[in-house]
Amino acid sequence: MSRTVPFCDAAACERAGCTPTVCRGLGMPSNDAIFERSALAIPGGVNSSIRAFRSVGGRPYVVSRAEGARVWDVEGNELIDLVQSYGAIILGHAHPKVTEAIRAAAGDGTSYGAPTPREMKLAEEIRTRVPSCERVRFMNSGTEATSTAVRLARGVTGRKRIVTFHGNFHGATDALLAAGGSGLATLGLPGTAGVPEEAVANTWVLPYNEVPVLDADVAAVFVEPVAANMGVVAPVPGFLAGLRAECDRVGALLVFDEVITGFRLARGGAQAKYDVRADLTCFGKVIGGGLPIGAVGGRRDVMENLSPLGSVFHAGTLAGNPLATAAGLAALDELTDDLYVELLARARRLAAMLRDSFSANGIPAQFPVVGTLVGMHFGDALDRPPANFAEAKTTDEALYARVFHALLDHGVALAPGAYEALFVGAAHDDSVLDELATRVDAALRSLSA
Ligand SMILES: *Cc1c(COP(=O)(O)O)cnc(C)c1O
Repeated sequence: MSRTVPFCDAAACERAGCTPTVCRGLGMPSNDAIFERSALAIPGGVNSSIRAFRSVGGRPYVVSRAEGARVWDVEGNELIDLVQSYGAIILGHAHPKVTEAIRAAAGDGTSYGAPTPREMKLAEEIRTRVPSCERVRFMNSGTEATSTAVRLARGVTGRKRIVTFHGNFHGATDALLAAGGSGLATLGLPGTAGVPEEAVANTWVLPYNEVPVLDADVAAVFVEPVAANMGVVAPVPGFLAGLRAECDRVGALLVFDEVITGFRLARGGAQAKYDVRADLTCFGKVIGGGLPIGAVGGRRDVMENLSPLGSVFHAGTLAGNPLATAAGLAALDELTDDLYVELLARARRLAAMLRDSFSANGIPAQFPVVGTLVGMHFGDALDRPPANFAEAKTTDEALYARVFHALLDHGVALAPGAYEALFVGAAHDDSVLDELATRVDAALRSLSA
């Protein structure tokens, strides 16, 4: 790391004798200066480890503002953004309706410790769109949603075992941070330091897209109905319905983690698209309009086991937060059937454009489309999109890193990891996609040159 500057202004730079590579001698904030300074106060300079560019190399750009399909870093560089807060943003950044809703709500106070009409409306809206969610409880993140769902499933069934799938991601919840053994091994092993074996001893990790045979020890099966954290992997026909049937056979709960797919894949999320009803559904991301939120929805008889009606504890100081529910309501209000039709077309157009550009430049890559979600897989290890984690892992990560940086240099922001989805939204209109095509082409030409 180069020299750290205490402040990113001209006088401080002079005092610190900072080098042009740090602040470019402009006395203006630089990405590197702010990132280095952040790293003195925040471990690794990031508040979510995936933002740190570890898997692609280099250092992150530091965002100062965003609007629509674009973000600007602190140096004033403009990027067409396909990260969109990892899917939390679907209308584009700083959408006027969402911003106005937050502003109006903020004027009424930001948290009370009492019920509010906005949380009622958002719960009703979710129930209307996803009929399996007869009751909805809010919390502050997708992670809290999945951890609550684990506790609820165990409390309701009186069983301990949780089944998950390789390559599915359910947030930073101990019981769901299990790494599977190799191949068909089902033993839960801690997926990270700090998770004791006991915490995952009852978590089985199985291959995605294969319906397992369950037994009566299983409390719940957690699944991303479309996997969007190992690239984008569609459920094979019969997988979700097979899980439903198998859960019913042994009396286990089927939990859909729709933190990404909820209100992104379709008006009714993955459950509407695939016509399979979950017992519990976890939400986050889109339902907060870009503010922190999480929710668990599900069957009334299951949900009523949550405190205060039932014996499974749940509470949260900021749960059902007025700003987050206001932003979420404003976002859902814009997410009409017509807009989903539009988003489907844009996802297809983005993928087609990327395919053309990559193949014209001789760079092997696949861009699978599942509804409004676009995935990526690099290299020529597969002749069709991956169907499970083992296949997803054949992506050429080194190639991805090169593509990632070439795109960034040409004003296109992808997530700094080879297993993320590409997020298009309402702000990625035809003119943005045209401009994106030009930038992608220039970036790939620079790579093959
Ligand atoms: C993002 C994500 C989570 C975690 O949500 P946070 O709000 O980041 O805690 C859980 N499940 C899936 C499928 C996700 O994509």
